[in-house]
Amino acid sequence: MSRKTVEILGVNIDSMTFDGAVETAQGLLSTDGVSTIFTPNPEIIMCAKEDSLMKEILNSADICTADGIGVVYASKILKKPVPERVAGFDLVCALLERMAETKEGVFLFGAKPGVADVAKAKMEEKYPGINIVGTQHGYFSPEGEEDIVKKINESGAKLLLVCLGAPKQEKWIAKHKEKLNVNLAMGVGGTLDVFAGVAKRAPEIFVKLNLEWAYRILKNPSRLGRFAALPKFAFEVLKENTGKNYKQ
Ligand code: UDP
Repeated sequence: MSRKTVEILGVNIDSMTFDGAVETAQGLLSTDGVSTIFTPNPEIIMCAKEDSLMKEILNSADICTADGIGVVYASKILKKPVPERVAGFDLVCALLERMAETKEGVFLFGAKPGVADVAKAKMEEKYPGINIVGTQHGYFSPEGEEDIVKKINESGAKLLLVCLGAPKQEKWIAKHKEKLNVNLAMGVGGTLDVFAGVAKRAPEIFVKLNLEWAYRILKNPSRLGRFAALPKFAFEVLKENTGKNYKQ
């Protein structure tokens, strides 16, 4: 697969439209071997800047989509603009819609006990025909990890949604990739919480105005600390751009 990417603070982000991402993900679903998709936002890119293992994991993915308007702006500043934001949640919805027709199995892994089962019920309601073949909550001991891999493999799932938050989900996928029998593993954070109604997505107007991040702070002020990564991210991108211009 030939990729067009932009490097943002050392992380390769795919320059693709939403439809392009869906098409590529569908292709990966029918390709043997375990493919991976991650959806970095500024916070995740800043994490990878400090954590070389995380950076390596992100850069070994089959796709890293620009999840977050901050990543889209950063690509513009670096003069390699990605066409649009490709949010992990939206990508999952598009894939589920198609998988309701193909009946390929989906496994939901992550979130607090009970949440994945509610998400499963909501998905079955929204995508009639969807084949959710298993669920597993995301609060496990290291000794329990092999059993989780076994459960996923025995379910026969083709798509594995790992919702443990970053960087836990990316590291879990990388650690177990060789033993998994799924075709596609995606690290998609709070997706199960949103499906289950535990967390809400921002209203359309916030999304349109690129203010989804502000809505998330308003709804959950305890996240404010995590969003402190945003100005730092902007500063680092501007610094990198200045450095690049200087070298030219
Ligand atoms: N989570 C989990 N296991 C953990 C830590 C977190 O399953 O050990 C779940 C948490 O319950 C939530 C999801 O990971 O459903 C994503 O959390 P958060 O919203 O913090 O992640 P983000 O998407 O913002 O990275």
